[in-house]
Amino acid sequence: MIVRRLANGLRVHAITQPGAKRAAALVRIETGSCHEPDAWPGLAHLLEHTLFAESARYRDQQRLMPWVQRQGGQLNATTRGEQTAFFFEVGSGRLADGLERLLDMLSAPAFPLAALQAETAAIDAEYGLLKRHGETLREAATLLACTGSPALHRFHVGSQATFGEDTQAIRAALRDFHQRHYHAGNMSLWLQGPQSEETLMALSAPWAQLPNGAEPFPIALPLAVEPRRMALKLAETPLLRLAFAVDNHPAIVEAAALLQGFIQDDAPGSLAQALGKQAPGARPALRQVLENPHTRILAIDLPCGEAAPESIAALFFDWLAQLQRQSPEIARHYATLARREFNAGSPLEQLRSRALMLGEAACSKAWRPLLQAITPDSLLRLYSTPRLDGQTVNSLGFRLEMGEYPSTSDVLPVTGWQFMDDHCPALSPTPLRSVELAQLTWQGAPAFLLGARLPDGQGLALQLVCAPLAAACRHYGGDMEFNCVDGEWLLSLSGPPLVMEWALDSVLNAFGQMTPETWRRGEIARARQEQQLMGEIALRALMAQLPALLGPPEDKPYWQAALMGGDDALRRQLAQRLSRLPWPLTRDKAPAPAASGHHYLPANNDEAAILLFCPAPDTLPASESAVRLLAALLAPDYFRQLRDELRVGYAVSCRFHQSAGCCGLLFMAQSAHFSAQTLLDITRTFLERAQPQLAALTPEDLAPLLAASGKPPSETPLIQAALTWQAHRRHGQASHDVPTPDTLYRLYRQILAEPARWLAVQNPQNSGVV
Ligand SMILES: [Zn+2]
Repeated sequence: MIVRRLANGLRVHAITQPGAKRAAALVRIETGSCHEPDAWPGLAHLLEHTLFAESARYRDQQRLMPWVQRQGGQLNATTRGEQTAFFFEVGSGRLADGLERLLDMLSAPAFPLAALQAETAAIDAEYGLLKRHGETLREAATLLACTGSPALHRFHVGSQATFGEDTQAIRAALRDFHQRHYHAGNMSLWLQGPQSEETLMALSAPWAQLPNGAEPFPIALPLAVEPRRMALKLAETPLLRLAFAVDNHPAIVEAAALLQGFIQDDAPGSLAQALGKQAPGARPALRQVLENPHTRILAIDLPCGEAAPESIAALFFDWLAQLQRQSPEIARHYATLARREFNAGSPLEQLRSRALMLGEAACSKAWRPLLQAITPDSLLRLYSTPRLDGQTVNSLGFRLEMGEYPSTSDVLPVTGWQFMDDHCPALSPTPLRSVELAQLTWQGAPAFLLGARLPDGQGLALQLVCAPLAAACRHYGGDMEFNCVDGEWLLSLSGPPLVMEWALDSVLNAFGQMTPETWRRGEIARARQEQQLMGEIALRALMAQLPALLGPPEDKPYWQAALMGGDDALRRQLAQRLSRLPWPLTRDKAPAPAASGHHYLPANNDEAAILLFCPAPDTLPASESAVRLLAALLAPDYFRQLRDELRVGYAVSCRFHQSAGCCGLLFMAQSAHFSAQTLLDITRTFLERAQPQLAALTPEDLAPLLAASGKPPSETPLIQAALTWQAHRRHGQASHDVPTPDTLYRLYRQILAEPARWLAVQNPQNSGVV
């Protein structure tokens, strides 16, 4: 990484990521909700939203947002207490074009009145969603115990009520706030991609025009967290948060990232495994709650299950004491592992982590002092539970139900803590039997795949027994996951051949020892997931249930396996190990036809939410790539019409969706004031009215989308191998057909002609909407 300051004071960070296909940019402004004038709560957030509207040089479809969507890229922005950030990721060749748009929108925004109206409405809807968002409420409760800045506790999100109706006045306030804070000395630019660091640095040259304002840097004070004990009512699985403040110093931040690695480790004998006994499927985490120039506020979240929070705290401090006794070699091994996982992230994931979270881990000189500073008396304890009698307290504009922290504790079984190194255990003898194992050509590192359509409770039970083995496998230099990928539960495994063999052997051994008790833990995890989904915004809950609706699990699961790449010796070894799978393997089986019609799925019903899935007419590879393009073409218009013009609400999108062996267009929308039926009608009409636009498509319209190739960016090599295998089973070969305007239009007509195959999903009817 190289860091330079341009003449105007802008700090530029350039990071080369060899081999990346995409490149990302992030701008961080050292101004956030805490700096807005008292008269304008939510102004920083509104500014973040309205900067995406037109600017001096870019209007309509040329603006950053629709442009990035057309490139098949991704973008977003975030407003926090003390910072605001804008970021996007596109094909590496398009980074310069994106940067020009980003620079123009940050330096010369037009603030069109129509956009101000649309965005105040969008923020009002967003506020409505956040009021019920567990993580947001937990953060608001955490800040109750934070001191150092009175602005911390003010209303930050904004709403129609705080913005008012006078758009001229809003515009004047936005202009003033923008001019005051969005200047070069108050910003940093982060660039990451496959380009050399000098090439990336050269892309920042136009940013030297950015004015450096006379306004001084906003003054920040050190923050502190009071070691209080608080309880918050939240309709999700009980959780204990331990929060504390650390100095914002690079060595401390690196050490905190290392502690994050230890806390999230799921290997046998880990903290995560001990907590998993109390709450199957829930994972501990370390997060950053707040950052200012002096201080970072960090939180360790520990799932409690039915155990009292004080018992969980005691368990954590017991583990921490053991961690302090570990050698520097162990700490360095965990740091190496954490960096390996960090480096596997996409350019944008890495930039977001560097600029907005903890970034890369290291066993820095602050490692021991950090551990020593975390003591039972120094931490805020915030227990959240659905079962609480509380009183309403306001924080950041949210109504929190706060109650008494339970001081009781019960004795949990003593845990034998273990910390891993990179030494893979010896292999058990190879079985003499062997099974047939398909081997596919694959350019990436060899990957073994084993999958079946299972009911979620069973899949989760197997995932729970896999988890510690997968974590151990990562310590040994391999990579293993057991996940639901597009509706299919998949074991995916890569790494050095001996580690692959060890991992497969261990997993099949664990599968062979499943008991009624281990299966039951899967059901507990499923129930917890369902409960969690009810707390999510409705669209997310519907989306999570879509794959199972499209391709329900088989009555009698059949397992399929393949080796992607690798040599014959590896295939033979794995085929012998695979003979110990306790369930029958199948070679080929056609997927069942997808579901269609109108369905109700359980989800939070404060707002109406719908999904409309329009499947491709067949599973041919050409149709799949055409649907990808069609989705990318329709997405910006759908978003504009529903969110900006009809103002249905905050969450609206159109995208390519693939699961359970079929792919198609997926529309989703959520609204506080339109009914599900109306949302579906609007969506169907939108699709019908796209006809003239799609009939008039030219090859030039498709060129940027084709260049972006449409593949989602943040897939790990293992997931890529899994998706390739799934595609192979669907159509037998990869696609090389390039869609043309003609094939796209024909596909669109076919989709339109078969509404009987469409799948409409909604949450239970809400009576309060029209
Ligand atoms: Zn927002």
